[in-house]
Amino acid sequence: VRNLKKYFPIASPFGRVSGHVKAVESVSFDLFESRTLGLVGESGCGKSTTGRSILRLIEPSDGSVIYKGEDVLKLKQKQFQKYRREMQMVFQDPHSSLNPKKRIGELIEEPMEIHKIGTKSERMERAMDLLRRTGIREDQYFRFPHEFSGGQRQRIGIARALAVDPSVIVLDEPVSALDVSIQSQVLNLLEEIQDEFKLSYLFISHDLSVVRHIADEIGVMYLGHMVEKAPTDDLFANPLHPYTQALLSAIPIPDRKQRRERIIIKGDVPSPIDPPKGCVFHTRCPFAMEQCKTVTPVMQQHSTGHEVACHLY
Ligand code: SF4
Ligand code: MG
Repeated sequence: VRNLKKYFPIASPFGRVSGHVKAVESVSFDLFESRTLGLVGESGCGKSTTGRSILRLIEPSDGSVIYKGEDVLKLKQKQFQKYRREMQMVFQDPHSSLNPKKRIGELIEEPMEIHKIGTKSERMERAMDLLRRTGIREDQYFRFPHEFSGGQRQRIGIARALAVDPSVIVLDEPVSALDVSIQSQVLNLLEEIQDEFKLSYLFISHDLSVVRHIADEIGVMYLGHMVEKAPTDDLFANPLHPYTQALLSAIPIPDRKQRRERIIIKGDVPSPIDPPKGCVFHTRCPFAMEQCKTVTPVMQQHSTGHEVACHLY
């Protein structure tokens, strides 16, 4: 993904465009086979918009998404169909993303039908198989979503995403609606099937402890910008960006000796309609300098795989 940008136009009462919500501003990253990139940040930082844009569930304003050598953003929607099959999404709320009137077996078969995969009986067989692999008994095939718990519904959502044999799955807060005890079961399932199906995950979450569990690499977003990106252990051991340091210092750590000094960031996130000039974080940064108000820092490599956009480095 290179320089991905998404601006949402704001219409004035007379139908003219009166401004833009600058949701995603020049975001770049690589996603490798069988690897997980976690995208973290507070709500409204642009992480969900990034995930949806690369699948073209919403059309990005600019940038490129190069998948196996082809810039899929340049394709007409019709040509893009074959890629749609390879890139799937799992949503936060399995309750609202599964049609309550359909049996779970049919829900898993539906994407195969849309992409014209297999015969009716082959699709049914695959649905049964996916139910089993995601930890739901095959004989539950004829039941309806409401008959399952939240964790089971998320397993069904995952089975549905797997139905068309994708390579990339965007997971948008996939465990945030679940109890903590259920979260780890679903995360373990995601790790198992990642190896089995050679899946690349873009794992979106506001919860750093969840992302730490599953991601190989983490990108931190603030107000539409990616401000730091690093291998997971590196990010936790040596957070560089003041915003990342503040996020990490807010995670409760039971061991007193390992606790970090809590960094409190003042004020609210500024409006994405009129974001601060220079470094977008300068209005809240405890280390802001004069140049931060005017010069936008760019991502720079600090150590292998560890990049940060901040004038301190
Ligand atoms: Fe803070 Fe300046 Fe770094 Fe932005 S560039 S995070 S304002 S020190
Ligand atoms: Mg979101």
